[in-house]
Amino acid sequence: MSRSPHLTVHAPSAVLLDMDGVLFHGDCPLPGAAEMLALLADSPHLFLTNNPILTPSQVCEKFARIGLPKPPEDRVLTSAVATAAWLAQQQPGFRYFSIGAAGLDHALSQVGVADAGAADFVVIGEGPGLDYDSLAVGINLILKRGARLVVTNPDHNVDAVINGCHRILPGGGALVAPFVAATGQQPVVIGKPEPLLYRMALARLEVEPEEAVMLGDRPDTDIDGAARLGMFTALVRSGRFAPSDPWPEALPRPDWDCTNLSEVMNAWRRDCPGLLRSAGRTR
Ligand SMILES: [Mg+2]
Repeated sequence: MSRSPHLTVHAPSAVLLDMDGVLFHGDCPLPGAAEMLALLADSPHLFLTNNPILTPSQVCEKFARIGLPKPPEDRVLTSAVATAAWLAQQQPGFRYFSIGAAGLDHALSQVGVADAGAADFVVIGEGPGLDYDSLAVGINLILKRGARLVVTNPDHNVDAVINGCHRILPGGGALVAPFVAATGQQPVVIGKPEPLLYRMALARLEVEPEEAVMLGDRPDTDIDGAARLGMFTALVRSGRFAPSDPWPEALPRPDWDCTNLSEVMNAWRRDCPGLLRSAGRTR
């Protein structure tokens, strides 16, 4: 475990937590997840995910189903919800054509109008739905009607557990690639490591970047994007990035580089004791 020299100047008071690979793998909670959530109960915190497939309500239900404390819905920010909020800021009552899982369309339909004939935005998310016909509809909207291309998250591929087996599935970055190739238009990217998802999370907690720490399992998304915004960063090597993996030298190093959540909690107790305010009774 490591720490940064700038911790001697100030320490974080709020936490953004990635979920997959940090708190659970599929339907299996990771060791220390329940204790971490109990300790954070009285501190400002938010669950943040690039995964647009589940709605916040479904994410909360998942916590309960796998035995973790169920958070209130407003503590969960998905890239789908952030995408819908950003589009509504750009153009209230926007029209959209979306490709991806139901969670994305659910979020978009709260603030926009589905319109495959005259969409202002072609929105790509993870999940099933991309085929020849939907690609053709999206390309025509972009090239003939001037629609803007938007993607929920830039991951090229993502981990999933299906029927108990680990699978690697195409991420938003892979699914948007055919639209980029066909139109030459670069997409607006909402999810990590781009700043929009972090900024919405920080705004919801009413904190500045330097007051928050991002806890995640991926150096290339969770850590890189948060560090670029000036947030504290904590890596836990329990997901995509293994304890033996060498640090990618092109990326900023995290303030805390830990093998598991126990190490994270010990480091935070030592370096920023105000962060884990709750008495920590595990429910
Ligand atoms: Mg993750």
